[in-house]
Amino acid sequence: MKKTLQRPAGWPASLSTPVVSPIAPSVVYASASPDELDSQYEGRETGYTYAREGHPNADVLAQRIDALEGASGGLVVGSGMAAVSAVLLGLCKTGDHVIGADQLYGRSLRMMAEDLPRLGIATSLVDATDAKAVAEAIRPETRLVLIEVVSNPTIRIADLDAVAEVCAERGVLLVVDNTFTTPLGIRPFEHGADIVLHSVTKLLAGHSDATLGWVAAKDPALAERMRIFAVTTGMTPSPFDCWLAERGLATFALRYARAQDTSQRLADYLSGAEGVKRVLYPTRPDHPDAARAQSLLKGQGGHMVSFEIEGGRAAANAFAEAASGIAFAPTLGDVGTTLSHPASSSHRALTPEARAKMGVSEGFFRVSVGLEDPEALIACFGDGLAAARGAA
Ligand SMILES: *Cc1c(COP(=O)(O)O)cnc(C)c1O
Repeated sequence: MKKTLQRPAGWPASLSTPVVSPIAPSVVYASASPDELDSQYEGRETGYTYAREGHPNADVLAQRIDALEGASGGLVVGSGMAAVSAVLLGLCKTGDHVIGADQLYGRSLRMMAEDLPRLGIATSLVDATDAKAVAEAIRPETRLVLIEVVSNPTIRIADLDAVAEVCAERGVLLVVDNTFTTPLGIRPFEHGADIVLHSVTKLLAGHSDATLGWVAAKDPALAERMRIFAVTTGMTPSPFDCWLAERGLATFALRYARAQDTSQRLADYLSGAEGVKRVLYPTRPDHPDAARAQSLLKGQGGHMVSFEIEGGRAAANAFAEAASGIAFAPTLGDVGTTLSHPASSSHRALTPEARAKMGVSEGFFRVSVGLEDPEALIACFGDGLAAARGAA
């Protein structure tokens, strides 16, 4: 009997179409002939070849996030830090200079402090609430400025419009990491950003079960350079993670609205509570950038609340232990509220003096508000505060 080689039969034909995107884990895509492959590589036909170069789940997700940000040609990569790397390492070269906000995400700060200088790319950190400081830091060889609209962990609001104006005047690219604010809080391309990126891991995917990033550039030539760099350096996103994030995005607007509503209530509760020194939330009139928060974020406060309790580390330990319904975990944007203590986690590498200068003491906490019942959540904070007062 003649033996035949069996290839998978392919997907069963169906006139009707699925309403949920299928998952395509295939690493390779077979072509009928070298001519057919040529026509794909030369752009006469569209098609996939090898998953590291691109796959359907990444493209579907990229288009969804593009629509939210008012972007086109966005790229989904394997993590938020891959998106940061695609920008910083994919677009800069030895001899360039890069400016970063001094309260960037911890790993972005590390890349500024360690990796870029190692490659001969000089870096400076500036206060992004001060456009004059950004202007003064610009040198002839400055390639780009990387900022976040709302800073971590002190919730300061960057002077985005003024920084964008400075960057445009001086011919420097403005890159905005929009993870904290999300496209429902602000769409940085509409404020002059040249490149916008996200850790999709956070509120966009929203369930702490997928690690992904997204980056888009206004200039298609820059977008293409980042795409090629991402493919070469293997920043490939997992198809399954892309699928999870697409599913998460279906409820993003609802989750955002609920978390924001609860955040406002929590901020108001905390600001009147005994043992709380200060509360940082953008819509509160006592916020240091209250006017800018109103004009930039259009009255939205977002889902991040920071606060400081009296009593130092002992009180902080007592708070975290007593508020045990809240996950003490260094992430954000999850369906569940998470509590982070920057002095022992994201900012532990800083000296106590440097932390003090930022206003990050041992009693400082950052909260990413989730979807719990607001009253139950506030009661949990109440338990934490009572314990903290006992320990202070
Ligand atoms: C989490 C985060 C990142 C990094 O994202 P990963 O998906 O964890 O790699 C970058 N920027 C901000 C603001 C973040 O919160």
